[in-house]
Amino acid sequence: MPQHYFEELDYLPAEEVLAWGIRTFSDSFGISTSFQKSGMVILDMAFRLSPNVRVFTLDTGRLPEETHAMIDMVRARYGAKVEVVTPDPREVEAMVRQHGSNLFYTDPSLRLLCCHVRKVKPLERKLAEFRAYAVGLRRLTSNTRNEIRKVEVVKGAIKLAPIADWTRQEIDGYIQRHGVPTHPLYARGYTSIGCAPCTRATAEDEDERAGRWWWEQDARKECGIHFTANGTVGRQLDVLIQGVSPAPGARAH
Ligand code: SF4
Repeated sequence: MPQHYFEELDYLPAEEVLAWGIRTFSDSFGISTSFQKSGMVILDMAFRLSPNVRVFTLDTGRLPEETHAMIDMVRARYGAKVEVVTPDPREVEAMVRQHGSNLFYTDPSLRLLCCHVRKVKPLERKLAEFRAYAVGLRRLTSNTRNEIRKVEVVKGAIKLAPIADWTRQEIDGYIQRHGVPTHPLYARGYTSIGCAPCTRATAEDEDERAGRWWWEQDARKECGIHFTANGTVGRQLDVLIQGVSPAPGARAH
C-alpha cells in the first residue's frame, strides 16, 4: 500500500485506527507495549475490540520488578499471552565483557550500544513476525516526537500510533473511565518508565521524559527504537556494534 493511503487514517479517532489495524492484519498484527500509561490505553482499547489480539513486550534484562508485576497483571486481567522478547545472550555477554554492566553511564555511544543490544535488535527480530503493530507513542511527550504519524511504514512494517495526538489529560481520562491498571512507579513520581538503572522520578516542572538517561546533557531521550542515532555518536555506535556482534554462523551454546 502506498504511503499516501495512510495519511487519511491520521484524521481518524484512536479506536478506529486500532480497529483498522486489527481487522486488516489479524494474526499479523500486535500491540507493542512496555506497560506505561499510553501503552496500557492502547492495550485496553485493543482488548475491547478483540480478545485475541497479540501483545508483545521487551524484557531487556534490566527492567524494574514492578514491570514484571505488570506483565503478570496483564496476563491475569486481560487473558493476554504477552509474548516476551529477550536480547541475544551472546551479544549481552560480549557487551558486558568489553564495557561492563553499567556501560550506559560512561558515554552516550555506549548507552546507545546497550539500548541497541537489549532493545533495538530483539525488537527488530520480533517485528519480522508481524505485518503491522501498534505503539502508545504520543507527539507531545518530547520535542523529538513531534512528527509522529498515526499510521506509517517503518522498515517494511506498518506502525500504528493511534493516540499520537492525545494529551496527558486525555490519557488519564481514559484510564479513569475504564479503570485501566497503571504501573506502580507512577505513584512514586515517575512519568516515563524504562530500565531500572536508566529511569528516575521527575519533578513537577520537568518534561515527561526528563527521568530517562537524566545524566546525559543535550542528548535525545530516545533508545533508537523509534529514532536512529546519526553524526559522531552514530558512527561510534556502528563501531561498537561491530565489536559485540557474534561472528556470522556462530551458534549460541
Ligand atoms: S535503557 Fe539503559 S539498561 Fe535499558 S537498554 Fe537502554 S542503556 Fe541499557
